[in-house]
Amino acid sequence: MNNSLNNNNSKVKLNNSKGNKNIIIITIILLLSLTFLILFIVFTNNNQENNNNNNNNKEENNKPLTELEKKLIELENINEKLDFFKEEYIDRYIEYKNNNPNLDLEKVIIYVNIGLDQEFYSKNYPSPNQNTNKVLTNKFYSLSKDYVPNNLETIDSNFSSGNKQMVKEAKEAFEQMAKDAKTEGYNIRAVSTYRSYQYQENLYSNYVKADGTEKADTYSARAGSSEHQTGLAVDVDNITLSYTSFGKTKEYEWMQQNAYKYGFILRYTKEAEFITGYKEEPWHYRYVGIEIATYIQNNPMTYEEYFVRFLDK
Ligand SMILES: [Zn+2]
Repeated sequence: MNNSLNNNNSKVKLNNSKGNKNIIIITIILLLSLTFLILFIVFTNNNQENNNNNNNNKEENNKPLTELEKKLIELENINEKLDFFKEEYIDRYIEYKNNNPNLDLEKVIIYVNIGLDQEFYSKNYPSPNQNTNKVLTNKFYSLSKDYVPNNLETIDSNFSSGNKQMVKEAKEAFEQMAKDAKTEGYNIRAVSTYRSYQYQENLYSNYVKADGTEKADTYSARAGSSEHQTGLAVDVDNITLSYTSFGKTKEYEWMQQNAYKYGFILRYTKEAEFITGYKEEPWHYRYVGIEIATYIQNNPMTYEEYFVRFLDK
């Protein structure tokens, strides 16, 4: 009997402790539910705020883009990166880019600035930087009939084929170069230097008579467009071979390594025919000064590209 009473008591106790546990579990569940509810409300609110913000942004973005902005986007906003980007050329850039879809965008800008989206000789601007080492003369920029550079001087006859003139600074640089080459056993001789407008006119018209305009234009400049009129250009030979074979001589190799040290660049290369409009001329060098020549030696490019990047602003 006692035993059964005891048993009943302990059952009651057991029931009581079970009840307590249930209450605790229910409380925990309620607390958890409440926490989740709060978290849910906070989360939903945040989302709504974000959505509102997004909508606000959309409203701002929905302001219609200007024509200029649309065009700049088409050009990947490259104007922000290139200080020689010209807004007035924007339609030409886009057209050139579309016509040359595989061309690097920076090149698109440079080539249009040079004028390559237009036919050679279709535009005729006065040569910039006249009477300086930085003058640019090509199939878009030309010198007038009466342009004669200042300070023309005659080259030492030891280094020329006789009575050849260049602008003083270029002449002195050429003589130093030819002298240093000679010391090392190389013959660099000036065979054509300054040429007047009239001389070039005559020369070009004879080539046209012989070969026709289209062909003559690939190797001879029209009057006003010749670098020889600047007094800064020189055609060279090695005395033994014609200047047209200069590219095959050891002197040419020497010039490749050394001409820039004296301020000369090779002006018309094979790679750049489409930029200069001339077939390669391994014999034609142009004085631009040591600083520019060194830059171009280290970063091979035409003088047109150099001009567009650094001088045409
Ligand atoms: Zn030449």
